[in-house]
Amino acid sequence: MEQGANDSATGWQQACHECDLLLGNSSAPPGGKLVCPRCAALIHRNPARSIHYTAALSISGLLLFIPAATLPMLNFSIIAFGSENTLLNGVFSLFGAGYIWLASLVLFCSVIAPFFRFLLLAFISLGCLWGALDRPVARAVRWYQHIKEWAMLDVYMLGVLVALIKMQSLGRMVVESGLYCFVGLMVLSNLTLLSFDQQSVWRRMARRRAATQAAGNGESSGAAS
Ligand SMILES: [Zn+2]
Repeated sequence: MEQGANDSATGWQQACHECDLLLGNSSAPPGGKLVCPRCAALIHRNPARSIHYTAALSISGLLLFIPAATLPMLNFSIIAFGSENTLLNGVFSLFGAGYIWLASLVLFCSVIAPFFRFLLLAFISLGCLWGALDRPVARAVRWYQHIKEWAMLDVYMLGVLVALIKMQSLGRMVVESGLYCFVGLMVLSNLTLLSFDQQSVWRRMARRRAATQAAGNGESSGAAS
């Protein structure tokens, strides 16, 4: 479905990011998408039940984060010597070997940023249902914009796959449950990118503000008459 929807509650306008055409109807209906009438660029895709799906996916991601970060991912053994590697002890090994900057970067991109990304999405999707949380939710959406670029689970996964292939000839490599959890985490992370529609959050807040103002104006005109 490709059509525009009038966002009359907010009166917003939006410029096409490709040709700068000013569009009065700047939001797509749930499950639909809005394209520019001049250059056919995609202006807005509005996944159905975006906020509910994002809440479910981000909470699942937070829960899966615990086994993904703490359970062994790979078990590498040569003759009688073996070692189990988790996401966190890989980072600590880098710290121990003196690679402070590299360890900090891996820790931030593979653990801290993805965790906070899920946490912010859970807070945004649940918090935007309550009017009292509008201000912190608005701040969280801005933080989300900064942190989402730094969450690089797929790059870490690529590193694990390279290690898996390269080191197989040196010893016995066994995939452990932590790696399956990590793959699940990566899938959830990509699904949140598809489900989360930032405009749905802003529109929900703007409609609530417009309704509050309308109710306030109605009360004041009622009191005047
Ligand atoms: Zn355009």
